[in-house]
Amino acid sequence: MSAPHQAWAADQLAAALERITPVARERRAGVKLRLERVLEAFRAERLGVHHFASVSGYGHGDLGREVLDRVFAQVLQAEAAAVRLQFVSGTHAIASALYGVLRPGDRLLALTGRPYDTLEEVIGIRGSGQGSLAEFGIVYDELDLLADGGVDEAGIAGALALPTRMVLIQRSCGYSWRPSLTVAQIGRLVERVKTIQPDCLVFVDNCYGELVELQEPTAVGADLMAGSLIKNLGGTIAPTGGYVAGRAEMVEQACCRLTAPGIGSEGGTGFDLHRLLFQGLFLAPQMVSEALLCAELTAAVFEGLGYAVKPLVGGVRSDVIQAVRFGSPEPLKAVCRAFQACSPVGSYLDPVPAPMPGYASELVMAGGTFIDGSTSEFSADGPLREPYVLYAQGGTTAAHAELALERALVAMAEGGWCGPV
Ligand SMILES: *Cc1c(COP(=O)(O)O)cnc(C)c1O
Repeated sequence: MSAPHQAWAADQLAAALERITPVARERRAGVKLRLERVLEAFRAERLGVHHFASVSGYGHGDLGREVLDRVFAQVLQAEAAAVRLQFVSGTHAIASALYGVLRPGDRLLALTGRPYDTLEEVIGIRGSGQGSLAEFGIVYDELDLLADGGVDEAGIAGALALPTRMVLIQRSCGYSWRPSLTVAQIGRLVERVKTIQPDCLVFVDNCYGELVELQEPTAVGADLMAGSLIKNLGGTIAPTGGYVAGRAEMVEQACCRLTAPGIGSEGGTGFDLHRLLFQGLFLAPQMVSEALLCAELTAAVFEGLGYAVKPLVGGVRSDVIQAVRFGSPEPLKAVCRAFQACSPVGSYLDPVPAPMPGYASELVMAGGTFIDGSTSEFSADGPLREPYVLYAQGGTTAAHAELALERALVAMAEGGWCGPV
C-alpha cells in the first residue's frame, strides 16, 4: 500500500464519519426502545435458566420452545410465532409459510415485482420446478414495480381483479436496485388489498427488516411474515433457524408444513440451543443498530466517491441493506476482496464469483462470518449482473465497517477507480 493512498483513504473515511454523526446519535438512542420490548417479553414470560435445556426426540411439551415462541410473538407484535432451528434458512421459513397456507387452485400475487432470487424456484418460475408451488397448482402472478422501483399502487385494483388467496410483499430490496418498503407503506398496502378483497391474506417476506423500525409488518395488519435467524433477530449468535409470525391459525399451518399435519408447532427439539436464540434476541437491538451505522457509513463513503447509493445518507431505512451501484464488475470485486480481508473468519480467502444453490446469477460474496452464510458481521455480496450492485449488510460494531471501508478505499485507489488527485 502506498502512503498517499493510505492517507487519502483515511481522509475519505473521516469525512464520511463526520457526515453520519447526527444519524449515528439517533440510531444509538433507538436501541433502548427495542431492547425494552425484548426485556418486557422476557419479563412477561418469566424467562429463566430452566428454559435453556431442551426436551429431546419429539420435543413435546418443551417449555423453552413455548416461551421462545411467545417471546418472539410479543417482540414482533404478532398474535403468534414459531421459532425453529429446523428451519434451514429464511427461504425455508418463507416456503413453509407459503406451502402451509396455499391450496391447489389458489392464486398468489406478488405486489413487489419479482421476489427474492431463492423464491423463484419455490414458486416455480425458474429451475426444475421439482415440488414447486406451480406443481401443486398454485397460480402465480406479479405486479411489476414502477420504473423508480416503487410499488405500482395504481395497478393494485387491476391486479386484484381475479380472486386471490394471498399477496406477497417483500419488505427488503433483496438483490434489486429498488427502495425497501417501510412498515407504514406495507400498512397502506394491507389496507388497499383488504378493501378490494377482504379475504385475501397478506404475507410479508420480512428478511433483513426486523427491529429496523419500531413496528413490524404484523403490527400494521399483515397476516403472516417470515424471516431468518441468521440475519437480524439472531443477534449474530443464533446457529441457524428461522421464524414465522402472524395470526395464530396461519402460524400453525406453516408449522404443519414444517413438521406434519397433526404435529404442527408442538414438535421439534431445540437441541439444548435455545439459550443462544434468547441471547441472540437480547443482542439483536444493538446489533441491528450497529449494522445500520455500518450501512450509513458505507453509503457515505461511496457517495463521497460519486457512486449511486441506495438508501441515501440519512435516508429512510427499513432494512439493514446498503446498495452501491458500481456499474462494472471490477470495482465490485475489489471491494468484496477488501471486505473479505477484514473478515474475522477466512480473511485469507479471495472471494471469486461462483454459483450458489437457489440463485440464478453467479454471486461474489465477502462473508467471513462465524455462522456460515450469516450476514451479521459486516459483509457484502452482489450478483454478477448489470448494473453490478454491491449489497452490504451487517456489522456488529461500526469500527469493523471503518476498517473494511478504509481497506476498500485503498483498493479502489490502487485500482485507479478513484484516489488522490
Ligand atoms: C435473505 C433473504 C431471504 C432468505 O434467504 P436465506 O438465505 O434463505 O435465509 C429471502 N428474502 C430476502 C429479501 C432476503 O434478504
